Amino acid sequence: MNRSLAEAYPDAHCELDFRTPLELAAATILSAQCTDRRVNEVTPTLFAAYPDAAAYAGADRAELEEILRPTGFFRNKTTSLIGLGTALVERFDGELPSTLAELVRLPGIGRKTANVILGNAFDVPGITVDTHFSRLVQRWGWTTLTDPVKIEHAIGELIPRREWTMLSHRVIFHGRRVCHSRRPACGACLLARSCPSFGVGTVEPEQAARLVKGVEAPHLLRLAGLGDASVEEAATSAKPVEPAAASPAREPAAETPATDSGPGPARTTGTGEPTGAEDPDPTGDQR
Ligand code: SF4
Repeated sequence: MNRSLAEAYPDAHCELDFRTPLELAAATILSAQCTDRRVNEVTPTLFAAYPDAAAYAGADRAELEEILRPTGFFRNKTTSLIGLGTALVERFDGELPSTLAELVRLPGIGRKTANVILGNAFDVPGITVDTHFSRLVQRWGWTTLTDPVKIEHAIGELIPRREWTMLSHRVIFHGRRVCHSRRPACGACLLARSCPSFGVGTVEPEQAARLVKGVEAPHLLRLAGLGDASVEEAATSAKPVEPAAASPAREPAAETPATDSGPGPARTTGTGEPTGAEDPDPTGDQR
C-alpha cells in the first residue's frame, strides 16, 4: 500500500506556504480548525508584518488578531504566536529549534505540529498523525491504536524512518482526495484490492469516481483501473480537496487531537458510511 501511495502521490507535500521554519510554525498554528487554502491567503500579510520572532513577541495584540481573524479561533492563535515569539527570543535567540523535545515545549506547538516542522523545515523525518492519518491507518489495519502518539510510534515501526515525512504527506493526500471520513470513494480507490475496509464507502465505480477530489483525480482514477468515461467525468467534476473552514464558534486549544474512526467491515458490498463527522484537519489539513 505504501508503494501504491508513492505512485499515486509522487509530489505529495506540505500544502502550507512557507519560506522559513518560523513561517511554517506560524502557518501550522493557524491551520488548526482551518483549511490550508485559507491559511495561505492570510500568511503573506502576516509574514510581511511579522518577519521574525521579535516581531511576534512585540506584536500589538489587536492588530495581530485582525490579521488572523479569517482563520478562526484567532484569539487563541494570537496568544500562541505572541507566546511563541517571546519564547524564541528569550530561549533560542529568536531561532526555531530543530528537535522534537525543544519544539513541543514552545507555546502553540504540540507533537503533531512539531513533526510537521521537523519534516518539512528541517528534513528530520517525522510522522504527522492528524485526523486523516489516524483514520486511514486504522481503516487499513496498520494499527488498532487510537492515541495519536501511540499511532505515531506504531507506524514508525512499520515504515523506514527515511520515509516518515513523505508517508505522512501521501496518507493525508489520500485522506483528502479519496478516503474521506464520511463518504470514502472505495469504488474508485487505487487501494481497493488491498484495503481491508473496502466497502465502508461507496463501491459503485461511477458514484465513487464523483467523490474523488482534486486536480489529481484523473490520475487517481486511472490507477484505480477506471475507464476513460469516469476519468473524463472526474476531470470536469473534481472538487477542491479541502472542506470549508470550520466555523469559529469556539476557541479550541491550539493543538487539537485527532479523532478516531475505527476500521470498517471487511469487504462488504453496500454503501455503508462510517460514523463520525468529517473533522476539519487541525494540522494544516496538510498535511
Ligand atoms: S478502499 Fe475505501 S476505505 Fe479503503 S482506502 Fe480506499 S477509500 Fe479508503
